[in-house]
Amino acid sequence: MFMTWGNPFFWLSIPVFLFAMWAQFKVMRTFRKYSQVPAGSGITGAEAAMRILQHVGLANVVKVEPVQGKLSDHYDPRNKVLRLSPEVYSSASVAALGVAAHEVGHAIQDKERYGPLVLRNTIVPVAGLGSSLGIILFIVGSALGGTGGWLMDLGILLFVGVVAFTVITLPTEFDASARALNQLQGLGMVTPRELGGSQAVLNAAALTYVAAAAQAIVQLLQLILMRNMHREE
Ligand SMILES: [Zn+2]
Repeated sequence: MFMTWGNPFFWLSIPVFLFAMWAQFKVMRTFRKYSQVPAGSGITGAEAAMRILQHVGLANVVKVEPVQGKLSDHYDPRNKVLRLSPEVYSSASVAALGVAAHEVGHAIQDKERYGPLVLRNTIVPVAGLGSSLGIILFIVGSALGGTGGWLMDLGILLFVGVVAFTVITLPTEFDASARALNQLQGLGMVTPRELGGSQAVLNAAALTYVAAAAQAIVQLLQLILMRNMHREE
């Protein structure tokens, strides 16, 4: 976004951006690696998801469906549908089992009304506004000069919603992965050795969320500093 060379947070955004790129690369590479490692149980991602759902009493509540795309797996809390990408749905790799079980983790959080997930779902609309309208208001406010200060403040306030969303996502994701690994092992779908592969994939995915939160925080700091500079003009 704004290229303000004198803004120290602009320089900080460069390593944070590189970290985010690296995390994306790492999740792709780790997923590819463990997609080649078959689980001895021979269970596919979809079957694993259904078994866990059955075990936690959600078999009749949550549906499991295939969805197009790469790493597009997600749990849809509104429609109670767990959507798995082709490489997860019908694969019996330790990577597929890890991702499928992780998405079931979100379904279990939904059932238990897990605090961070409830909070995250509440913030979603604000976060959506903050990343687009928040920035626009900020730019317009800054262009207006002395009279636009309040627009910049409003933009910053909306952007705080983005930061809150990325931060509350962290416990939600870590918890879903912890639940996934417990279920996979508890139900004997992977051996302790295979579990390491599933865990590596989920840890790599977690890093991308850490990077997203770091990027949002640095961007917020940039906005705040620019607001202060604007005030002093
Ligand atoms: Zn997740």
